[in-house]
Amino acid sequence: MKYVKNYECTVCHKIFDKNMIINTCDECGEIGILDINYNYDELKKVINKEYFKNNTDYTMWRYKYLMSVIDTDFNNTLKVGWTPLYESFRLKEELGLKKLYIKDEGLNPTASLKDRASAVAVVKAIEENAEIISCSSTGNAASSLAGNAARMGLKTVIFVPKRAPQGKLAQLLIYGAKVISVDGDYKDAFKLSKDAINHFGWYNRNAAINPHLVEGKKTVALEIAEQLDFNVTDWVSVSVGDGCTIGAVYKGFYDLFMIGLINRIPKILGVQSDGCSPFYTAFSKGCPLEEAEENTIADSIAVGIPRNPIKAQNAVTKSKGTWITVSDKEILKAMKNLGSKEGIFGEPAGVAGFAGVINALQQGIIKHTDSVTVIVTGNGLKDTFNALKAIKAPLSLKPDLQELIKHIKKKL
Ligand SMILES: *Cc1c(COP(=O)(O)O)cnc(C)c1O
Ligand SMILES: [Zn+2]
Repeated sequence: MKYVKNYECTVCHKIFDKNMIINTCDECGEIGILDINYNYDELKKVINKEYFKNNTDYTMWRYKYLMSVIDTDFNNTLKVGWTPLYESFRLKEELGLKKLYIKDEGLNPTASLKDRASAVAVVKAIEENAEIISCSSTGNAASSLAGNAARMGLKTVIFVPKRAPQGKLAQLLIYGAKVISVDGDYKDAFKLSKDAINHFGWYNRNAAINPHLVEGKKTVALEIAEQLDFNVTDWVSVSVGDGCTIGAVYKGFYDLFMIGLINRIPKILGVQSDGCSPFYTAFSKGCPLEEAEENTIADSIAVGIPRNPIKAQNAVTKSKGTWITVSDKEILKAMKNLGSKEGIFGEPAGVAGFAGVINALQQGIIKHTDSVTVIVTGNGLKDTFNALKAIKAPLSLKPDLQELIKHIKKKL
């Protein structure tokens, strides 16, 4: 907390003391989501290339001075972060891009980027002496919270919509969460969790409402920059549901820009499914955000009412990026491509960012002379039901070599 200056309402810009325990602005209510301001002049004195060179903590906590947590010993938490950033060769060639990097967030402990938020939620809950943490989630926020909380001996109550994929549900139950499967969609799960949290006084891990979580998620951008030796790409592409992740990606780059470690903020491509695209629709029609249908296989971004709209829209506007949509078919194609050409298996929402880059190239939004970083936000093993739609069934044969020879050549 040493370098935190204060909290600021994203709607009315009212400033709050950093020692207050609050989530949203008291004047604006639930829409008054807070942003956390830092003292960049002080940060500049400690955070530089030398600091990172000497830092042996290869988890997200290597960025603890850029987070709103009390500086304690984080050794016992799950090891979140420092996921690989791969340089692509085959897909880069195929798309005709100058450079393409892929950040595989599916390699986090519970297999999604959400671990970066949940790790902070657990630490904050402990700071505030809470014993039970609760959230509603399309799946990954829940499974990551359950895993990170289990490691630290905290209990979790999780509200999921009926459609949550089996893999994520299995994770939740194995991590020992109390799971409430809400007969309805994500909106219904969110509403019930909100009422329950108010009623029981549990610690609130709903990502939009809790301003500390975006600070955890932004470590993905800090890592990307550090892994590129602070020479960031022209674009960074990420899929968008509630808008916390994209807001966090911007915030991470903004921090580094303010400290002077990068000399520009990448343009951010916000990717939505065409079956659920409230941000894209508002952007392309130039009108306010409206509730959208939740009709896509990419369950993690099937969010009809985004809970963090201001941070999300600012991320795109301030970085001079744009919004784009992808179809389920394009998502499945992207999944197969990333898997077979790079060895990276993402869930549908996980690969949507990559599918978005392909569309953006076709529309001339991203140029062939541009460099791009794609964030794969979640692991494909979480949702094999949909992954199986992306591929053909395997060759099925009797155990007989002659039979096999009829079907297959030495060179594939
Ligand atoms: C949550 C999630 C997203 C989107 O993040 P938001 O903060 O909801 O915009 C994208 N991909 C995966 C795999 C996720 O779990
Ligand atoms: Zn306010």
